[in-house]
Amino acid sequence: MVVVGAGFGGLGVALSLHRAGFRRFTVLERADGVGGVWRDNTYPGAACDVPSSLYSYSFAPNPEWPRRYAAQPDILAYLVRASAVVRDRIRFGADVVAARFGGGRWRVELADGRSVGADVLVSAVGQLSRPLVPRISGVERFEGPVFHSARWDHAVDLRGRRVAVVGTGASAVQFVPAIQPRARAVTVFQRTAPHVLPKPDAVRRGAARPVASRAARFGTWLAGEALTALLTSGPVGRGVVAGLAAAHRRIRVPDRDLRARVRPTTRAGCKRVLFSNDWYPALRAPNVELVTEPIAEVTAYGVRTRDGREHRADVLVWGTGFAVADFALPRVTGRDGADLAEVWAGRPRAHLGMCVPGFPNLFLVYGPNTNLGGNSVLTMIEAQCRYVVAAVRHLAATGAASLEVRADVAERFDARLRDRLAGGVWAGCSSWYRTRDGSITTNWPGLTWEYLRRTRRLRLADHLVRAEG
Ligand code: NAP
Repeated sequence: MVVVGAGFGGLGVALSLHRAGFRRFTVLERADGVGGVWRDNTYPGAACDVPSSLYSYSFAPNPEWPRRYAAQPDILAYLVRASAVVRDRIRFGADVVAARFGGGRWRVELADGRSVGADVLVSAVGQLSRPLVPRISGVERFEGPVFHSARWDHAVDLRGRRVAVVGTGASAVQFVPAIQPRARAVTVFQRTAPHVLPKPDAVRRGAARPVASRAARFGTWLAGEALTALLTSGPVGRGVVAGLAAAHRRIRVPDRDLRARVRPTTRAGCKRVLFSNDWYPALRAPNVELVTEPIAEVTAYGVRTRDGREHRADVLVWGTGFAVADFALPRVTGRDGADLAEVWAGRPRAHLGMCVPGFPNLFLVYGPNTNLGGNSVLTMIEAQCRYVVAAVRHLAATGAASLEVRADVAERFDARLRDRLAGGVWAGCSSWYRTRDGSITTNWPGLTWEYLRRTRRLRLADHLVRAEG
């Protein structure tokens, strides 16, 4: 068995296989450490906006989270610790470039020309690993350092410098308040104002008892389900969330002019709802300017907006998000030479986000339509880990060679999903949830409860089970 990726998804699969008694698997990771996005995103203030009680594996609780919402170093340290038991199964520096199914097995090809054989292949390559830098004219002229939030250049000392930040998404609302006290000036370029809710963060004292940890996890999950229900149920539910965000703005932004400029113009939940207590206070700081005029170009000494004004800066930081990954390895060739990218034709889809007809024994983790707008993706990832283990168990117990989702089952699932998503909250504006043609390929349309129920057991009737490859 081969698992590609050692982020939350890939490690979750490896740990689940290990817990189920399987030892013959290899995790291939292109970097030199575990963690995925929690290894890459080291920007100041990086933290998770989902409480750690639920943003962790249920089978590896951490009673010693220092805060309710852990910071990136603590999350990365947790992942390193939790994955220690499978550490010797991980090959670092293994950059997978292709995988091909033939003769009943997968052959996984690495960038260095080597290859690894596998009966089962799990692709857990994440959705947000490729930083997106917008094409704005003049960037190459800029005289100072330029970097993306996910590739933070810690060698650049921001003390006393003027920093231009493009973007006001989940990353920017965390790093702007963290750099504001150090920088001489911060100019934030906002294209779309986000809906921001308060973050009920708290420092933890002492280790939590197991029963308290479980209760916190359940309570957080319920709260996430409630938020999702509000966001996806229609205008009334969305209005409640928008109202809470408006009340938060009224309290945190007394200045009417600034408040008008941070008022969202998109419906709540259409883009990710953000949680922060220090975003608005940072925008109110005397050394911070919020610019809502569109960017025209980057100059040698700053950023020029369409009104002709040049905003001087020494450092330029992109908080502009990610090019959503293609949900699978770079090149995947299934039965009869089928190419996954061609099959998808720009619209990634998989049965339950995991299985694709024509690609036997291939499982995608955190695949198409398994991201969430209101709850912890760990809930989805764990459901997928259980599903993969059930499939591997079935193959091991029966001696069957392969499992492949039936085309008619996958098509029915996809059609229903499209239907639900078309009228849903994410269809209302552009965001990383949607492809250029408007398809929503990232998000699950309902509650995690429904996904948990639908993945609870491996429905053999949904699959073609072959005795030989
Ligand atoms: P993002 O949510 O995609 O936000 C990107 C920001 O850059 C948006 O404000 C966007 O404006 C702006 N932008 C993009 N191109 C631009 C351009 N050409 N000119 C001006 N503005 C531009 O990216 P992110 O903040 O990195 O977050 C991405 C995802 O990562 C999140 O949704 C979340 O899933 C995950 N994340 C999670 C956490 C956490 O705490 N759990 C923290 C960070 C990130 P528009 O809105 O107008 O496009």
